[in-house]
Amino acid sequence: MKFDIMTLFPAMVRAVLDESILGRAQKSGAIEVCCHNIRDYACNKHNNVDDTPFGGGMGMLMAAPPICRCYDAIVENAPKEEKRRVVYLSPKGRMFTQEVAKEFASYDRLILLCGHYEGIDQRVIEEIVDEEISVGDYVLTGGELPACLVVDAVSRLVDGVLADAVCYEEESIASGLLEYPQYTRPVSFRGKEVPPVLLSGHHENIRRWRLEKALELTKERRPELYEAYMAAHPPKEKKARRKKKPTEEA
Ligand code: SAM
Repeated sequence: MKFDIMTLFPAMVRAVLDESILGRAQKSGAIEVCCHNIRDYACNKHNNVDDTPFGGGMGMLMAAPPICRCYDAIVENAPKEEKRRVVYLSPKGRMFTQEVAKEFASYDRLILLCGHYEGIDQRVIEEIVDEEISVGDYVLTGGELPACLVVDAVSRLVDGVLADAVCYEEESIASGLLEYPQYTRPVSFRGKEVPPVLLSGHHENIRRWRLEKALELTKERRPELYEAYMAAHPPKEKKARRKKKPTEEA
């Protein structure tokens, strides 16, 4: 899968995405991340990419021409059949969730536009953007961190990025529950012991313990997730034991 990130600060994005699992995924070719510096598409002698908003108000707005020129260059030679989506990271957008990440993972290419300062000229959104996406109800200084967050969450769902689909299917939210507590060596740490069931080697008991803990935690912290999970996984009724007739008694 290919990600194109349109930004005024490509180094911010590269610093995050070139490390660790996503850095390796780029090297292996499982994902491709291209950063495009919008400033390279400025066409005035000072390379200005922003200006004061019409009607007055605080701060500067990113102007339409460099952004749209940058976009045109990105898609210029794109294959016709390519399934792509253009997303503007914005606090006004649809909330980013695991479901949205799954939806985005079905595209061949995701083009992410990062705003900065007071945001971008509305005509850019009308001209090139398919959808605005917010990463939460708070305002950040720029779209670079939200873009990294989207690339990270979507990449984990792309084949070849994680060792196995189980790695993400069983995790918090993706599984429908919050994950159970996890432990590693040492068995004893500052007087706290690893729950004995996890050392028992009894797979069925371990599975049951983990489910029980995940249900407890989800019920306590995210009751709405718990309700949805229980509605989708109603507890199996225990088979009623048939009472033996007196004649059947031995
Ligand atoms: N004036 C804008 C408003 O009130 O909606 C906020 C602009 S914000 C200071 C600058 C840029 O940061 C935005 O253009 C957007 O790209 C990014 N940004 C800020 N908060 C965000 C959020 N919660 N989700 C996604 N992007 C965000």
